[in-house]
Amino acid sequence: MKTKILGGEIIAFDGKKHVLIDKGEIVYEEDRIIFAGESYPGDVEKTIDVRPNLIIPGLINVHTHSLTAPLLYRGISEDEGWVLYKYLLPIRYGTPTTPPYAQGEDAYFLSRLTILDILRSGVTTVFEQTDNLEDPIKAARELGIRFYGCHAYFNSMPFEKSGEVIYPPAKDICPGFDENLRLIREYQNAANGRIKVWLGPHAPDTCSQDLLRETRKKADELKVGIGTHISQSLTEVNEIKKRFNKTPVAYLGDLNFWGKDVIAAHAIHTTSSDVGIMARDGMNVAHCASSYVKSGIHAPLARYRRAGINVVLGTDQNPMDFLDEMRLALFSSKLNEDDPKALTVLDVFNMVTLKAAQALGREDIGRIAPGAKADLVVVNTRQTHLCPHRDPLKTLVYHANRNDVEMVIVDGKTVMEGRRVLTMDEEETMARAEEAARRLWKKAEAEFGLPKILLERTSKV
Ligand SMILES: [Zn+2]
Repeated sequence: MKTKILGGEIIAFDGKKHVLIDKGEIVYEEDRIIFAGESYPGDVEKTIDVRPNLIIPGLINVHTHSLTAPLLYRGISEDEGWVLYKYLLPIRYGTPTTPPYAQGEDAYFLSRLTILDILRSGVTTVFEQTDNLEDPIKAARELGIRFYGCHAYFNSMPFEKSGEVIYPPAKDICPGFDENLRLIREYQNAANGRIKVWLGPHAPDTCSQDLLRETRKKADELKVGIGTHISQSLTEVNEIKKRFNKTPVAYLGDLNFWGKDVIAAHAIHTTSSDVGIMARDGMNVAHCASSYVKSGIHAPLARYRRAGINVVLGTDQNPMDFLDEMRLALFSSKLNEDDPKALTVLDVFNMVTLKAAQALGREDIGRIAPGAKADLVVVNTRQTHLCPHRDPLKTLVYHANRNDVEMVIVDGKTVMEGRRVLTMDEEETMARAEEAARRLWKKAEAEFGLPKILLERTSKV
């Protein structure tokens, strides 16, 4: 079936770059765009008129953790600084003596809540790293979002005890790696190719050298990409230095681990020679501005871009408003560089569309052009905070928020219309996730002493 969508403004793609079409039309047939221009000459079966609103390509969020976001980042870790080893890793992944907190349906509904939330801010492709990967895969299939994921695996997950970070001895076996391979076999290209599974070694300090070598070997053999973390804390950097007398980037470089098929999150603590290795080996950096800014950390972005490294954006486990995340990446980069032109609106928009597609090895997403997937987002521009406007991209990146996302189409299917998600019960998702989180928080309060809530409870004021 051919569907035509009429837009007040369309951010289309001319084969090299995004271009603006005023009062244009997009026609898609099943999952593919067949026309983007001023006026389609042929007949169509269905017409959707969203004028005068703006149509943009579906955005691509390349680094998320669907389970930890609602479990530990809603009213717990805010203002607490770096809590990776204190709460996050032990609660999420367990310790040698305690299992991960969220299991079964609890894990599923918490992940489902996040995947749903991600779509609502105009994201049509998400890259998820978690060790309950089957849960967000299931949620993504139901919801209709385009999904990349890797099963986060490791064989020595550190935890904090009495203020000290302890690495347990690395185990020879890694059930998570086997599980990742099973998920690749079971889900690769499921749901009309919407589901893709990559390999997910957690980080260089939490995976043994053998596991990292095996990961690269399997990635080449299976022709799948790798999602990981790199240089995300000084603890990691110091641990790798202690073990191998190298930086984490150089250590993985010497293992021939890097490549165009790797997306590594963070790369906060790097040296100039690391930057050279990253540029040489063509890896992609997932930059998560919220994570850094809220922790008082300066993370390089403009420096990597100047070196020719492909930098893309992710929300990590922070609020999933991707428009907000784009703005934060833009602002923090200017601040880090003391330069208002360190990063521009167009840079940021390219990073969440064309550059993110490049990181995923795709030329058919992140753009509106014939042959591309029909992943489209309609932004309601008839609102006081967006009106009047003369430059749709500046308006989008500087002024819009998730509530302005009116309609989301993925793979030619309308998933959200009039801000209502059509494919998933939102009330049920929220209720089940809330119930799970409250139960798990109670347990964590007793075992880890989570931060106290800010206000004392009282029966009367
Ligand atoms: Zn991460």
